Formats: sequence, C-alpha cells, structure tokens
Amino acid sequence: MLDKQFFETLARNHGFPEFRWIFGKDVHVCQWVRFKCMFGCESFGHNACCPPAVPSVSVCRELFAEYGHILVLRISQKLAEPNDRKAWSRKKNLELLALEREAFLAGYHKAMLLFMDECRLCDECTGTRADCRKPSMARPCPEALAVDVFSTVRSAGFPLEVLAGYSQEMNRYAFLLVG
Ligand code: SF4
Repeated sequence: MLDKQFFETLARNHGFPEFRWIFGKDVHVCQWVRFKCMFGCESFGHNACCPPAVPSVSVCRELFAEYGHILVLRISQKLAEPNDRKAWSRKKNLELLALEREAFLAGYHKAMLLFMDECRLCDECTGTRADCRKPSMARPCPEALAVDVFSTVRSAGFPLEVLAGYSQEMNRYAFLLVG
C-alpha cells in the first residue's frame, strides 16, 4: 500500500517542498507535444532521452495508464544567465534521481523518475540510447514522453506560463511515477 507520507518526507528532505499527487490517468499525453519536439526543438535527434530516441506517443500513454500515483514536483528558478541553465538542470536532475533510488530501495519497485528538463548529465549528449554515457542514470523529461505539462500541472493546481525571457522565473516539473 502506498505510504504518501514517506514520499512527502522524502521530497522535503531532498529540497523539493512543493509537490502534488496526481493519478496516471490525469496525465495529458498528446500528439501535438511530439510534433513540437519534431518541429521546433533543437534537441530532436540530438539527445538520447528525447524523440526520436523514445517510445511512440501511444506507448507513452500506456505507460502513464499503468501508474495510479504520480508525485509532481515543482522546481522554480530565475537564472541570471541563460548559459547557467545546463548546469542548473544537471544539478537538479541528479538530486531528483536520489528520490527514485530511495523509493525503489523502500520497496516501490515501479518507481521511475522523469527529469524536470531534458537529460543534461553530460556536456555533450551522444544522441543515441546505444551510445549513452550514463544509461543507468539517464531519464527523459515528461515533455519527451509527449506529456502536455501545461495542462497536466495546471489541472493539479500548479502554475505554468509561457515565458518571454530569462528575467522571469521558470517553473519546471519533474514526475516521480510511484506505483
Ligand atoms: S546521460 Fe549523457 S549521453 Fe546519456 S542521455 Fe544524458 S546527456 Fe545524453
């Protein structure tokens, strides 16, 4: 049986005090998200955790349907320099990975983390899963799995707006798929 208190304490202890629970069926998985990856994102074909190196939209939809409980974690930051984005994302994604590991070791065998940003664990991504330098650590972000993050987190009561520039605070969202 899911011990929500365990996960909420875990999140707080790792510096992620803002979270909400959603059901897997509440995750909006949409073709338009995949098309945005294909047409308009420079990471398409260059990140081993992004399209086309990820499953089809329909398989992604099946994945979320297999989870009753998902912890959505909000990570907010205003960056002074756009160039700081990569290092910040790497640091946060590594911190988030610890949640997945602790959940797994606590007996939640289905626990799987989706990063709050594309996988940036390496300075240069190899672009293919077969050549990934850290395959045990690399994870996709929700967007890479065709999740409409805007609709999904807004439905959970979280804010998310399109930003016009780096002077505005970013809201990024990681998902911990629990069970
Ligand atoms: S671990 Fe490195 S090579 Fe693998 S997906 Fe992440 S950035 Fe790319």
